[in-house]
Amino acid sequence: MTTFASRHIGPDVDEQAHMLKAIGFGSVDELMDAAVPEVIRWRGGLDLPPAASEEEAVAELRELAGRNRVSRSMIGQGYYGTVTPAVIRRNVLESPAWYTAYTPYQPEISQGRLEALLNFQTMVTDLTGLATANASMLDEGTAAAEAMTVARRASRHKSTVYVVDADTYAQTVAVLRTRAEPLGIELRVLDLASEPLPEEFFGLHLQYPGASGVLADHAGLVELAHERGALVTVAADLLALTLVRAPGEIGADIAAGTTQRFGVPLGFGGPHAGYLAVRAGLERSLPGRLVGVSRDADGASAYRLALQTREQHIRREKATSNICTAQVLLAVMASMYAVYHGPSGLREIAERVHRRAVRLEEGLRTGSEAFFDTVRARVPGRAEAVVAAAAGRGVDLRLVDADTVTVSCDETTTEADLAVVWDAFGVAHPAAAGEHEGGAVERIPAGLRRTSGYLSHPVFNTHHSETGMLRYLRRLADRDYALDRGMIPLGSCTMKLNATTEMEPVSWPEFADIHPYAPASRAAGYEQMVAQLEGWLAEITGYDAVSVQPNAGSQGELSGLLAIRRYHRSRGDEGRTVCLIPSSAHGTNAASAVMAGLRVVVVGCDDRGNVDLADLDAKIEKHAGELAAIMVTYPSTHGVYEAGIADLCAKVHDAGGQVYVDGANLNALVGFARPGRFGADVSHLNLHKTFCIPHGGGGPGVGPVAVRAHLAGFLPGDPLRDGSHAVAAAAHGSAGILPISWAYLRMMGPEGLTAATAVAVLSANYVAARLRDHYPVLYAGAGGLVAHECILDLRPITKAHGVSVDDVAKRLIDYGFHAPTMSFPVAGTLMVEPTESEDLVELDRFCDAMIAIREEIGQVAAGVWPGGNNPLSNAPHTAACVSADEWAYPYPRSVAGFPPGVDRASKYWPPVRRIDGAYGDRNLVCACPSPDAYEGE
Ligand SMILES: *Cc1c(COP(=O)(O)O)cnc(C)c1O
Repeated sequence: MTTFASRHIGPDVDEQAHMLKAIGFGSVDELMDAAVPEVIRWRGGLDLPPAASEEEAVAELRELAGRNRVSRSMIGQGYYGTVTPAVIRRNVLESPAWYTAYTPYQPEISQGRLEALLNFQTMVTDLTGLATANASMLDEGTAAAEAMTVARRASRHKSTVYVVDADTYAQTVAVLRTRAEPLGIELRVLDLASEPLPEEFFGLHLQYPGASGVLADHAGLVELAHERGALVTVAADLLALTLVRAPGEIGADIAAGTTQRFGVPLGFGGPHAGYLAVRAGLERSLPGRLVGVSRDADGASAYRLALQTREQHIRREKATSNICTAQVLLAVMASMYAVYHGPSGLREIAERVHRRAVRLEEGLRTGSEAFFDTVRARVPGRAEAVVAAAAGRGVDLRLVDADTVTVSCDETTTEADLAVVWDAFGVAHPAAAGEHEGGAVERIPAGLRRTSGYLSHPVFNTHHSETGMLRYLRRLADRDYALDRGMIPLGSCTMKLNATTEMEPVSWPEFADIHPYAPASRAAGYEQMVAQLEGWLAEITGYDAVSVQPNAGSQGELSGLLAIRRYHRSRGDEGRTVCLIPSSAHGTNAASAVMAGLRVVVVGCDDRGNVDLADLDAKIEKHAGELAAIMVTYPSTHGVYEAGIADLCAKVHDAGGQVYVDGANLNALVGFARPGRFGADVSHLNLHKTFCIPHGGGGPGVGPVAVRAHLAGFLPGDPLRDGSHAVAAAAHGSAGILPISWAYLRMMGPEGLTAATAVAVLSANYVAARLRDHYPVLYAGAGGLVAHECILDLRPITKAHGVSVDDVAKRLIDYGFHAPTMSFPVAGTLMVEPTESEDLVELDRFCDAMIAIREEIGQVAAGVWPGGNNPLSNAPHTAACVSADEWAYPYPRSVAGFPPGVDRASKYWPPVRRIDGAYGDRNLVCACPSPDAYEGE
């Protein structure tokens, strides 16, 4: 019988035998015995349910889904019913061309998603009235928290007070609290409708419209805050902004929020794209990824990530934020919703929502005067009964307190829904009002009505037919290289199969259409799935408790470090504030440590790439009483199983510190070693690496945090409960994509998971063995073996022949490949992670391409082709350049366009040539350029 594991794992038994022979082993068991150090080796097997077939897993998921109850949600609070246009659902959310892509670090093969993200940024800047928006945040709560730190950095005020208006979503306040405390920021929640602003504060957070639904004119508060030297963040609803004055027009410095209601399903809390926008002058302190316009080697306009020097990879503990994986796939969906509807379509949707809310209010007679979509009703002593009555008829309202209910309308609200609400309140149905002629904006006060235009760029005014939209999506997808074209051997990123069976349940209504704050009875299936998944992850990692709340690896890191900090404090150890981090660590590690209020002390690596244990001793001694933790990646970021790990853990524990193991590389451990049992106290995992959630072009992700028992009480909790220490706006973070990892674990079973690890290690060693004679493999562990990835050292080649790591990466595009990870963790190198999912044909195709490129380098070395004018330095070559009437290069066109091994019939042509990043940073353009900018090309 064909098992799912045999579909997930690329090389079959014969291919594995061939690969084993090439590296000199008789079996995978022999290989793993040699590769994995005995001190960490787990031989107890995994206590997980045996593998289910694809059909069985789907049936079980259907049963779980069936325990969720889809209702009509009028709870609001930042999460709304929305209609995902089917053309976008099928051709973005459900399309591997979009969901299997990686973060666009290789911009020449990512022009499609970069254009979609530029549309997203343009949509956000237009609607918020601010100068620059980034390419998505993790959710509204974290966007608000990042806004707070932008204000902190930009304000010259020495005050540590950040004022938050009381009419702000509870979950936003919770995330702000978590993030403020370790940074020494004092959060002051004030009801600014009645209380005055303090004299001294560095920033102010206002919500617009407020959590109560009230649409207040914030211009006076903004002015006062500015007079006192503070910056102002306005958390604004993008749909409302089509009708009301933009934050930028009332003087806001920063706008933050979510784009969920632009066609992205609720998913029990996520994933959705948050947004963050800033006024002119603040763009260089804007965290997150920013897409900008630059030009390629032929002078054509091209997109790429701008201001990369701000990234945590480079700035480490000086980074402005730890955000890495964001929410690209969802940002693409939201931007396409705006492209599809256009400015007048969006305005129509907003007017319809507003009209419903106005009609709702006519029945409830709440006396509300200014609102957009949400009405607050006082029903002294009856609130619970009203909410229960509506729930009984399938409509969920928000219980504020014993006397108060809020009701939110959205794009999906019908007259019948309103009737249920009126009945629940026991009020008469108002007379049918027709279409409120001319009264579309009647509860938006005149002074708050939007008069400025938005989304005037042609892209938002062209693709309004379904045919047009379908073709636009196809055109953009065709420009990109994703896993549906070939392997993406990115070290540290684990680009493995995202199986269709794993993906399908994501768009089932029983998972997609559940509000995160729905009553427990609506989400029983979700709760059961989350509990099972957390239990399985605990079993795999050897930890005692897991939380799936963090919605990216970076957030898992922060949660884990905050748990350590709170643990020390709970024991009166306030002085433990030093976090040791090896020099080879991923940039997010240092950035997260700073956000958790820790001081980073770097520990060196020895010349074999291992943590230098002598330096570790010295640093421990120096910071003895202050040691909070060490944060190490295992296997190391060099892709090696370090035998010294047990020693390292013991040394840190003896000194009173905690051990954090970054589990992003868990693909090398599953079934063979358990961090929670080999000495670590806490880890985060990346479900979007090891556990098959697709990268989506740079998100979504899920970064569960896993801890041993003594830290379990410090895990993040439900943001709607007091003292939650929440790191995301919803209790289970990006719950909507958890079925993917659930299905993977369920279908692989313990043997399949263990086999996957072994084949991942086998594949990496096979690639290392095939390429070793052509490029030095930088680090290896026992017996010359690597773990699940290997680093190819190009520095000697660059030094001798001037061919750079960039040249090789771009030439790989001509050969039809996505480059490996460039210059991480070692500058001037390529890190290759093939994963278990690539079969032998693809592994060999990649190795052959790398070897052919090495021969091309030989031609440059031999002087056949000049340095600086050869197929490597001129790569990649576009179809336009290869077919141009003029050809001035010292090598034939066929060498440029059809290097060895390339199938002429199915060649992937990059749409642009090599992109000049520096030019774009000097001439920063982060919104859709006007069409005449392309003139003359
Ligand atoms: C990917 C990765 C991270 C960051 O994860 P995100 O989900 O992108 O935030 C952290 N550490 C290592 C070693 C990684 O490979």
